[in-house]
Amino acid sequence: MTTTILQNARLIDGTGADPVADAVLVIDDGKITYAGSAAGAPQPEDPAKVVTVDVGGNTICPGFFDCHVHLSLPGTKGSPIMSAMVPPSYRYFELIDRLKTTIGAGVTTVRDLMGVDVGVRDAVAHGLVAGPRLLVADKMFSQTGGHADFHIPSGIDGTGLVGGLIVDTVDDARREVRKLLREGVDVIKVASSGGVTSPSDDPDWLGARTEIVAALVEEADNYGGRKVAAHAIGLAGIQAAVQGGAHSVEHGYALTDELRSEMVDRGQFLVPTLIETLKPDTATPQAVAKSTKWHALAHESIAASVAAGIKVAVGTDAGLVPDHGATLGELGCLVKFGGMTPMQAIVAGTRTSAELCDVADKLGTLEAGKLADVVVVKGDPLADIDSLADHDNILLVLKEGKTASNRGAYAL
Ligand SMILES: [Zn+2]
Repeated sequence: MTTTILQNARLIDGTGADPVADAVLVIDDGKITYAGSAAGAPQPEDPAKVVTVDVGGNTICPGFFDCHVHLSLPGTKGSPIMSAMVPPSYRYFELIDRLKTTIGAGVTTVRDLMGVDVGVRDAVAHGLVAGPRLLVADKMFSQTGGHADFHIPSGIDGTGLVGGLIVDTVDDARREVRKLLREGVDVIKVASSGGVTSPSDDPDWLGARTEIVAALVEEADNYGGRKVAAHAIGLAGIQAAVQGGAHSVEHGYALTDELRSEMVDRGQFLVPTLIETLKPDTATPQAVAKSTKWHALAHESIAASVAAGIKVAVGTDAGLVPDHGATLGELGCLVKFGGMTPMQAIVAGTRTSAELCDVADKLGTLEAGKLADVVVVKGDPLADIDSLADHDNILLVLKEGKTASNRGAYAL
């Protein structure tokens, strides 16, 4: 068993505690055995088996989360329509670079909310391809004509291609969600409002109604306590998500104070996806117009959601917009628009996101006993939260103690 010691570090452990100025992190066999002040660090039993790395006064953080990605989509590097022009097998190879970029940006866990299945998750977990740990939804539910329905006016049906799943009755919802749960998905995704990118509806409109959301929640809960994430932008959809008992509201731009306090009471999470803005060259004019309108509201409404005390986790919609690897830019948005302190934004991207993903027992903070998902970032992110968005500042990324990215050229 090899021990790795990271020393000469500033430690931000993800709990929200004050940073530790002269800190040490000890990793044994992929797990953290010590995180704290250098003065309190244990002496290694066998110094010959220790790899000691001086991180040069830079900052150690927990591996970050992106709780809302779409690895199957290209971001600004292409158009979703191009996905229709290649065989399905080709699309798996496109994932390789997206996975690598994401983990190289300091994100060691992602929740993919439509577009990749459990095979991709397991291929990464088994080391066939490098990337962040995945939790996958595979498909997204909506009703006919809703956000998951990608019949386009030409008559072409892109629903299956993007990962949409259409249900109009409670019985259909129960049957289809059971099939997904049988497949082994980690989370269920439903659109309870219309969407920005969907061809035939609007974010203001109701998507999957409350009784459909509630049926999905019940079936998923009965299947080992799986959780439901609800895409909900406009008010009608947010109401259905909250009152249907979804675990998280994705976007949540039109939240009212009444619904905010209901979310707090129910312990529901908000994933506000603040950095996404559609680019005119890769989206339809209708979608760009919707995006511009709704993102202005997103930036206006997040501060009240933070102030209300809703649990806010970090997600970006990476792949749809923005690009893969853009995740940590969301932390700067939570500070700028949401009124969070830089420390609060880091906790949102680590501990709170781990809680949302139901993995807080092993991830999200740097504490003895947890998996060694560790990121070394240049300088002090509390002094400049936007520095996290620059990949050049992500000096080292470890996933379960193994090196995933090493821009700092540390001798590991
Ligand atoms: Zn999304």
